Amino acid sequence: MVLNIQHFCTHDGPGMRTTVFLKGCTLRCKWCSNPESIHPRPELAYNPAKCIGRTECGFCLPKCPEHAIFSTDPDLKVRINWTLCTNCSQCVSACPPGALSLFGHELTVEEVLAEVEQDSPFYRESGGGITLSGGECQLQPDFAAALLEEARHRGMNTAIETAFNVPWENVEKVLPHVDVCLHDHKISDPERHRKWCGADNRRIQENQKRAYETFPGVKFIARTPLIPGVNDDEAHIRAVLAFIRPHPNVIDYELLPYFRFGESKYGFLGRVYELEDFQPPSEELLARLRAIIDEAFGRATAITRKTQP
Ligand code: SF4
Ligand code: SF4
Repeated sequence: MVLNIQHFCTHDGPGMRTTVFLKGCTLRCKWCSNPESIHPRPELAYNPAKCIGRTECGFCLPKCPEHAIFSTDPDLKVRINWTLCTNCSQCVSACPPGALSLFGHELTVEEVLAEVEQDSPFYRESGGGITLSGGECQLQPDFAAALLEEARHRGMNTAIETAFNVPWENVEKVLPHVDVCLHDHKISDPERHRKWCGADNRRIQENQKRAYETFPGVKFIARTPLIPGVNDDEAHIRAVLAFIRPHPNVIDYELLPYFRFGESKYGFLGRVYELEDFQPPSEELLARLRAIIDEAFGRATAITRKTQP
């Protein structure tokens, strides 16, 4: 169940990469920039800015078997009753301007690789490859493992972005086919993790430690999406460093400063974005926290950092 295939990515592992976003996630991070990746099945999205309105168009109205589409004055644009919508997608093909669309579709390993391989000249030049992201890519372990194994067979570097909130059996299937594992350390305290991410971090940390020890050949890169007032404190950064530094295959720790990416998509899905008043962290704070990380890794200067995925 694939959400999207994104080309020419530079923040999802070494070199130039093609990132395949899979659908489904077990966490509900309030700052999630890909809310359309959370639900494990295809999902309707509605962009009212593209809707022509019921007078000029209205083709979607009779298509809905659930009567979930309606229109109200004064702008004549349609609205969705999200509690009635079953994501059946029957309205999507009736919408000429694409105001109604579907997030997520089933693809085979071969179909994904056919698209990914279009970028293969860039991989060879940059040392890049394929990255599986999400959502949580380890929630589709058989598909992820088959895709990564075949990508490797075709000479690509393989990476995943994961939160590790999955059964260990899934990790055992996926990681043998991974060169680089980018993984989150969102919040140190289990109960605060539950409050902000919808689940505590006990299974996550157990999986992380076990993965570091079980797969010494994988390069792990720890990351924290830095959310002001939530986890942008020195204590969290030092707690993560204490967790990862005993493991030599954790080769780096990156901070991903919060940006309001993805906010508009909440509206398209009939959901509410809860962090409206949050602002990105200051450059001064970032520099101070990165200096702590650089010191722990024995580096003199900060390496180039990434933005929030
Ligand atoms: S996806 Fe199906 S149920 Fe939902 S609004 Fe469209 S036609 Fe109705
Ligand atoms: S088919 Fe699309 S453009 Fe036409 S009324 Fe429905 S949502 Fe609006």
